[in-house]
Amino acid sequence: MKHILLSCMLALFCAGSYAQNLKSDKGHENNPYYSTTDTTQLHLSDAEWKKILPADLYLVARKKNTEKPFTGRYLENNIRGTYYCAACGNALFKSDAKFASSCGWPSFYEPLRKNSVKYQEDHSLGMSRTEVLCGRCSAHLGHIFDDGPAPTYKRFCMNSVSLDFEPGE
Ligand code: FE
Repeated sequence: MKHILLSCMLALFCAGSYAQNLKSDKGHENNPYYSTTDTTQLHLSDAEWKKILPADLYLVARKKNTEKPFTGRYLENNIRGTYYCAACGNALFKSDAKFASSCGWPSFYEPLRKNSVKYQEDHSLGMSRTEVLCGRCSAHLGHIFDDGPAPTYKRFCMNSVSLDFEPGE
């Protein structure tokens, strides 16, 4: 009985720690614009973004870098919750729209709201792709492809670095 109780306590502790680890540790204390409720459009200078974002996030969100495949913190995250823009806090995706993709980056079939994201043609690296940007702050999030599952058949291929996750319904 004692062993069962201890095992349960350990399982709860581990689950709690795991959920805690998935929450952003990027720290938004230097970012006065970060808000999960304010939907006002953000137009900041590159110098301002560089000052307020962590270096890894700045390089992806503002310089359109791509994180290495199979390295992102949210790739295997199957906990229910909401994904936000790590640069500004804008709500982007619900976990319900996340699906297992073999591409190496967290993938979703639809944004939380139609205007959660915006799109831009991207002809860099000799490819023709559609870039996905945050609808509030224009942070680079990733790209969208037409090989996703029903009902949209879209694959929003996102950088974990550009996302924050908050467990919940
Ligand atoms: Fe944003």
